Amino acid sequence: MFSNDVVANLGKSSVVRAMFEEGTRLKKIYGDDKVYDFSIGNPDVEPPLKVKEILQEFSCDTVKGRHKYMSNAGYIEARNAIAQSTSKQHKVEMTNTHICMTCGAAGGLNVVLKSLLNPLEEVVIFAPYFVEYLFYIQNFGGVPVIVETTESFDIDVNELETKINAKTKAILINSPNNPTGVIYSKSKLDEINAMLERKQNEFDTEIYVIADEPYVKISYGVEVPSVFKAFKNSIIVNSFSKSLALPGERIGYIALNPAIEKVDILMDAILFCNRTLGYVNAPAIAQRLITALIDETVDVKDYQEKRDLLYNGLVKLGFTCNRPDGAFYLFVKSPVPDETLFVKNALENYQIIAAPGGGFGRKGYFRLAYCVSKEVIINSMPSFEKLAKEYF
Ligand code: PLP
Repeated sequence: MFSNDVVANLGKSSVVRAMFEEGTRLKKIYGDDKVYDFSIGNPDVEPPLKVKEILQEFSCDTVKGRHKYMSNAGYIEARNAIAQSTSKQHKVEMTNTHICMTCGAAGGLNVVLKSLLNPLEEVVIFAPYFVEYLFYIQNFGGVPVIVETTESFDIDVNELETKINAKTKAILINSPNNPTGVIYSKSKLDEINAMLERKQNEFDTEIYVIADEPYVKISYGVEVPSVFKAFKNSIIVNSFSKSLALPGERIGYIALNPAIEKVDILMDAILFCNRTLGYVNAPAIAQRLITALIDETVDVKDYQEKRDLLYNGLVKLGFTCNRPDGAFYLFVKSPVPDETLFVKNALENYQIIAAPGGGFGRKGYFRLAYCVSKEVIINSMPSFEKLAKEYF
């Protein structure tokens, strides 16, 4: 009766969302402060104060036409601001013609994939991954090809090479990474590029590197290397959902490496998709907002303190995990092989809400999103301690 594909995907769909709903239910029973909800990457911090000031200014603006449709790429002022900051960050000459404003990174990824993919072409993703990638790729008849990462969640280029063939259209990298917090090094990107160049010559194809970078500004003293410098065929998808704590405003962008061959045609395809996928441009007010806030970021130190609190606390109790270099997630080894049992126990008996690693394509782990208040982290420690006593 309904789409077979969509109905089939309902079962596989976001376990994180399910945990989030469960958290909401438990908070009603036990109270907000008795439930330690690490389920979802919804920033607890408020956006910079300037957001409210600027919105107040906008509401007094008497210029006509502020709420009309605009060019599909978005306002020229917003694109200029992003082109300028991207040029500076990557040391690459960009103009507004390389930028398209989108409805968040999610909208941007869908637009890019629709613009690139022919049916059955393959897109490589690295496990553990942001689960929505599977569905975004399938939206356009693409095939997700999963490459496992190492014990420390780094990319194994030999392993990646085994999955590259004549049908490979793109590889999708996410650094800083959700769910692991890993930042791929410059030498790793260069190694991937050398291999991709060989493969493109061998198959006489173009392979695009899509860099999903909503966490690029949330890194803890570790540089996030430039994908524009590393790969000629590179496309950045970014948003202000995390860097300005504005996920509800649905604002992001696509930036194309000017070195891409036929970059103008690719941008035309992107603009077509930004319109025909139904989003019809990024929201007007949010575009104006980020233009004014282009150099602002939420307090990254605050996230770093939360990382340290949670990471140090858990390691002291005997849990095993990588110390994240960026983003705001901790990917922790489950003390029992079936992490769903552990997550269920943590939820039912200790009111700790975690997301099972299987939902990210890596069983045996669980993810904690530490974009919560410090109180939640501190108050959750006695419960983690009880859990540790039960398992270690
Ligand atoms: N990519 C990754 C890795 C994410 O973690 C998220 C959101 O959590 C998104 C994309 C989507 O971000 P946005 O809210 O900007 O659409």
